[in-house]
Amino acid sequence: MKNKLGILGYPLGHSLSPVMHEAGLKAAGMDLSYDKIEANYYELQEAMHHIKETYLGFNVTIPYKEKIMPWIDQVWPEARAAGAVNTVRIDKGRLLGTNTDGKGYLRSLRERGIDPLGRRFLILGSGGAARGVATALVSAKAASIDLASRKKNKGHNLLEILAVVGSAGGSWLDLKTLADKDLSAYDIIINATPVGMAPRDKDCLDLPFDSLRKGQILSDLIYQPRQTRFLQEGQARGLTLINGLDMLLYQGAESFEFWFDQPAPIQAMRQALEDRLGELDED
Ligand code: NAP
Repeated sequence: MKNKLGILGYPLGHSLSPVMHEAGLKAAGMDLSYDKIEANYYELQEAMHHIKETYLGFNVTIPYKEKIMPWIDQVWPEARAAGAVNTVRIDKGRLLGTNTDGKGYLRSLRERGIDPLGRRFLILGSGGAARGVATALVSAKAASIDLASRKKNKGHNLLEILAVVGSAGGSWLDLKTLADKDLSAYDIIINATPVGMAPRDKDCLDLPFDSLRKGQILSDLIYQPRQTRFLQEGQARGLTLINGLDMLLYQGAESFEFWFDQPAPIQAMRQALEDRLGELDED
């Protein structure tokens, strides 16, 4: 019986997945290890061979979420829509791949009683996380999703993907010109760029924060620091704030549930993340 899980990526120095999943496995009474599988591009082929022989499942992180696709025997619709795999289950030598980022994000909203149905979203950034979140929001029947990013081509490509996934309308906006716009029409604004992430936590996108209105929600996918400058601007105006910690937690919970087909021990996983982030804050 295989008794190993892990995370494949490079580098993996600061990944919080091991502490979160070790706590979850322990709370569920499962005698399984969760390893860091650090492999550079030259080592990837051999690492994949080893994983297939000895692991029952694994997570995938930067830089392999897209590159892993050719190895996957069966790709779940969420992963196909996101264009990336972050969770793999190994079943009789076959690799079954899904993507839990978008589902994790949706769960982080719904656990707070926020339903994306009929809401108007603005997503800042058009990278991997933006794609995972945006495709999930389309599936959850968001009314519209505008994308603001630096590169027009990337933004338009993502809008085309969203049009294939579902019917939410949306436009691309140039992030450089956003400072002159009015953001009051959006229900939820999501920062899916790394701007403001530690150690550069003084950074903030140049946005027209004064156009925000009461009742809006600001969501930052960043979890370190827990309150970015983007979120601080929302706090100063009394808006609802969501940081990236719940997305991290729930994408991990969705991975656990994909591997074991039973509910994840959320509280233990959350506590492990809180503890680890507390330690990092002190460093
Ligand atoms: P990514 O694929 O590299 O995409 C980053 C996006 O941000 C791209 O659109 C990029 O624009 C834009 N960007 C980067 N630097 C910028 C700057 N200085 N000004 C304006 N835009 C900038 O990264 P990702 O995987 O999507 O991750 C994005 C963020 O989400 C990171 O902070 C990551 O930690 C966070 N995240 C959180 C979770 C979670 O569970 N909470 C999960 C995944 C990701 P260009 O294309 O023009 O470079």
